[in-house]
Amino acid sequence: RKGSSDLTLRHDDRLLGGLLVDGFDEESCHSRYQSAMYRRNPGRRPSPYLIAKLRRHEALQRRCGPGTAAYSDALEQLKSGKSVASPECRYIVSLPYQGLGNRILAVASAFLYALLTDRVLLIDPSDGMDELLCEPFLGATWLLPPGFPLAGYATFSNDTAETYGNMLRNKVIGADAAADISPAQTPAFAYVYLHSDASAHDKNFFWDEDQRLLRDIQWLVMRTDNYIVPGLFLANAFRGELDLMFPEPDAVFHHLGRYLFHPTNHVWGLVTRYHNAYLAGAAQHVGIQVRVFGAQPNSPELLEQITSCTQRHKLLSEVLAAGEPMTMPPPPASRAKSKAVLVTSLKPWYHEKLKSMYWEHAAANGEVVSVHQPSHEEFQRFGVRSHDAKAWAEIYLLSLADALVTTSQSTFGYVAQGLGGLRPWVMYKPDNDTTVPDPPCGRAVSMEPCFFAAPNYNLWKKQWLDASTIVPHVQRCADFAWGGLML
Ligand code: GDP
Repeated sequence: RKGSSDLTLRHDDRLLGGLLVDGFDEESCHSRYQSAMYRRNPGRRPSPYLIAKLRRHEALQRRCGPGTAAYSDALEQLKSGKSVASPECRYIVSLPYQGLGNRILAVASAFLYALLTDRVLLIDPSDGMDELLCEPFLGATWLLPPGFPLAGYATFSNDTAETYGNMLRNKVIGADAAADISPAQTPAFAYVYLHSDASAHDKNFFWDEDQRLLRDIQWLVMRTDNYIVPGLFLANAFRGELDLMFPEPDAVFHHLGRYLFHPTNHVWGLVTRYHNAYLAGAAQHVGIQVRVFGAQPNSPELLEQITSCTQRHKLLSEVLAAGEPMTMPPPPASRAKSKAVLVTSLKPWYHEKLKSMYWEHAAANGEVVSVHQPSHEEFQRFGVRSHDAKAWAEIYLLSLADALVTTSQSTFGYVAQGLGGLRPWVMYKPDNDTTVPDPPCGRAVSMEPCFFAAPNYNLWKKQWLDASTIVPHVQRCADFAWGGLML
């Protein structure tokens, strides 16, 4: 399926096969039309159906978004707490949450839901997403304007009375799932809470009955730290549309991500300066994402996992022991057999060790290996703009690699692999800290992110379910057994 010429993009296609539109001010967002030039793997081609859907959605954002009369009306409606029978425009406000990888997956999820339900997508800029991402919709803003009338919306939790789950449990809505709710009963907004501690009622969101209940609610506020897309395939009402939009279901995030997530000029400067200075000259570019946590000590076992994974799969050469006969070194400045390795990690140690290894020893196959790490922030920081900008730049740099090694269960790695259109080699978590897993890594079956909290129960049917029995191309994740993954 992959690699046939009509399904992959051309290198010089700055609009990514029609995924993007012309007409944006290029100075305001350099990355939007430049990114194709930086990708050696041009990626998959979007379907004509998806392209048409995106163009219609952009028109919806222009017609109903902030600054329009329809938007002012909808805000008045929200303030009044009452709903109208068939609102002209409906909205979903995304509250991205947690680390940057999680936040990006949350926005992509809310956007796909917006596409499926004809809702305007607005994102809450309070966590700094506006400084990281360009506007994706031509002629409309996706940033929630200041003064949004739902008091305390940013701190909604699973205790909020208006979560979909609580309203369902308390029979505010859905007392009779078979019947449509009358406008008099329809709340003006619902809070869709799909975080990892969401209740069974919240997680019932994914079924057809629930989607019917939510359809007429004009405002939804969604909080998740997850990639809920595999769950959206469970509703019959969505599946046909999804199949048309994504004839290749393993490329959903690939397309949504490339459509939505354009680094702002500051971040693009970080990406391009680094790429041009350290990576662009090499014949091959390998990305290694080493996800560690602040308090974790440097681990020789993890280092061994990295080297044995990369060497076993011929991503990096083995090195010669002292005294072994070497091949003649290449002439200076020969790039034929050069390999640039980009390491991303909160800690500098793994990069230092790899770098020394390829300096102190010759590569067995004679190749020239350079090892680079843009930053080592030591621990995850929250609400620090420069920290987030570096994280975003590094995710993007990883996505430009020819081959990728990632740490399992990391949304940071998921975003990189999806944007890059790469199936990474995934380093699985060891059973304990003193063993090196064998095998050290395995090739991911899909470039899609895993949905860690895939729905497994249907309250209406009182039935436990395995998503894969409903949708064959949703499977369990290799790195997280309870998760759902698109193949
Ligand atoms: P996840 O926790 O692995 O799923 O990924 P997230 O991106 O959601 O959260 C991890 C956060 O820690 C990132 O967003 C960064 O703030 C920080 N972080 C983790 N690894 C790296 C790294 O390799 N480079 C940089 N710059 N930041 C990192």
